[in-house]
Amino acid sequence: MEPESEPCYFCQGTGRVDDDQDCPICKPLDHRFREMFYILENHVPRPPKNLLEFYEFRGNPENFIVKQEDVGQYSVSTVFVGLNMDHLHITATGIWFETMISDLRGWGSATCYETWEEAEKGHAEVVERLKSPKWKRF
Ligand SMILES: [Zn+2]
Repeated sequence: MEPESEPCYFCQGTGRVDDDQDCPICKPLDHRFREMFYILENHVPRPPKNLLEFYEFRGNPENFIVKQEDVGQYSVSTVFVGLNMDHLHITATGIWFETMISDLRGWGSATCYETWEEAEKGHAEVVERLKSPKWKRF
């Protein structure tokens, strides 16, 4: 899915605001910000062009929630985090997706993935594990 299509709500698409300044919402992001908060295009991570694109992406949870479901007392949530969690640069593509398990006591990370497809598969495996007699606690 290609984000961004509507004109910027802040400058109405002119790119300029008061005193002829660059619009802070749709001006191109500087390098540091681009590296901080990624979006997905066709399920593949890339830096947003500007804040407008970032907000539009984050405004629709379907863009970044791979899957969420309840298993007994647990809630299993697999999402695109938006940050590369591969801090040691072990992978070629980065680690962007995470499955988290939560209950009333809090939450914990179950596992992380490089791609949307791996995240879908991994989510199903975590759910199966939670349901198995060995792990079952509900
Ligand atoms: Zn603008």
